[in-house]
Amino acid sequence: MPGWLDTAPTLTDEQTRLVDITLVGNYAVAPSWGDGHHTGYYTFALLRDRCPCGECSARRSSREPAMTQEARHAKEHQS
Ligand SMILES: [Zn+2]
Repeated sequence: MPGWLDTAPTLTDEQTRLVDITLVGNYAVAPSWGDGHHTGYYTFALLRDRCPCGECSARRSSREPAMTQEARHAKEHQS
């Protein structure tokens, strides 16, 4: 249900117990939960973006806007 989490932010154990997960195309996964609800899906891009592991955190922090990289590249070649 869209917006449901906004009005009921506390989830029961059953609502957070993962019972199944289905591949959506080749870009996302759709989980099914212990209470029977299976709304929404999560793209791999989204999961990577929110992943707390060291590898993903390092990748995120090294990612800079193209303009910044371009400016640094130019500066390196000046010196
Ligand atoms: Zn990760």
